[in-house]
Amino acid sequence: MARTLLGVAGFPVAHSRSPAMHNAALAELGLDWLYVPLPLPPDRLRETVRALPASGFRGINVTIPHKQAAHALADEYTEAAAAIGAANTLTFEGDLVTADNTDAGGLLDALAISPSHQKAVVLGAGGAGRAAAWALREAGAEVTVWNRTPERARQLAEELEVDHCRRPGAADILVNATSVGLDPAVAESRALELLCLADLDPPGVVVDLVYGGHTTPVTAWARAGGARAVEGLEVLVRQGARSLERWTGRPPLLEVMRQAASSAQG
Ligand code: NAP
Repeated sequence: MARTLLGVAGFPVAHSRSPAMHNAALAELGLDWLYVPLPLPPDRLRETVRALPASGFRGINVTIPHKQAAHALADEYTEAAAAIGAANTLTFEGDLVTADNTDAGGLLDALAISPSHQKAVVLGAGGAGRAAAWALREAGAEVTVWNRTPERARQLAEELEVDHCRRPGAADILVNATSVGLDPAVAESRALELLCLADLDPPGVVVDLVYGGHTTPVTAWARAGGARAVEGLEVLVRQGARSLERWTGRPPLLEVMRQAASSAQG
């Protein structure tokens, strides 16, 4: 029988840690499946995805720049994918394509506390900010969105029925869902200025969705202020674990995924 395939579609995708992370988990589960990178320019996404089930694929992750297009081409949606309007996980059953967004649940898993009745500030109103704001709101947090371009924060807040602000203020939880911190050449002080965090003490829990081979400015700020810092790599592991369980029906070992993700080249 042909080998069952999984993958990650992105453009570019060579930097993705997902193949190493998922292949390690599949091996540990004793499944002879293979997870491959799928570099796909945006104009090839739809036709390629539609051809994948017949080529042995059980599902794929999708990353930048395909999350909204992947949502648009699906036949069915989980509640998270429908509400967020973007998908990071597609599952194939015959020709049926179901879209899920495990970024949302992955964030809550990584948070490891209930955000119910907690004040949560989400920095960023792009795809990741949207998933984070929705997840936290669904889990009962009082969510406020801040964004460099205030109009996008206002729009997102209106759609999700949460608050928005001109400057981030006191909170219990802060999530950096911007791409600030991705470039290690940007000094920590500059990154904190860009996010209006320079004069703010960190709240008890800080999640930085950004990850790379370095300690990010927001993570450094959180630790220096005595906060519990949840790193982006942990969120990556948790969203990946949710996707893999969806495809295989079995929960993967998180520690195996963590080790593979952190030793993979970013
Ligand atoms: P996106 O849709 O392109 O949004 C980018 C966000 O960053 C926007 O809110 C943008 O603000 C803001 N931004 C960019 N440059 C900025 C600057 N110089 N100063 C202030 N704000 C700035 O990207 P995304 O998909 O939401 O991803 C955001 C980050 O989250 C990326 O680093 C991504 O790798 C990470 N992420 C991690 C995980 C994980 O599993 N750990 C999952 C998803 C995403 P404007 O609206 O003003 O442009």
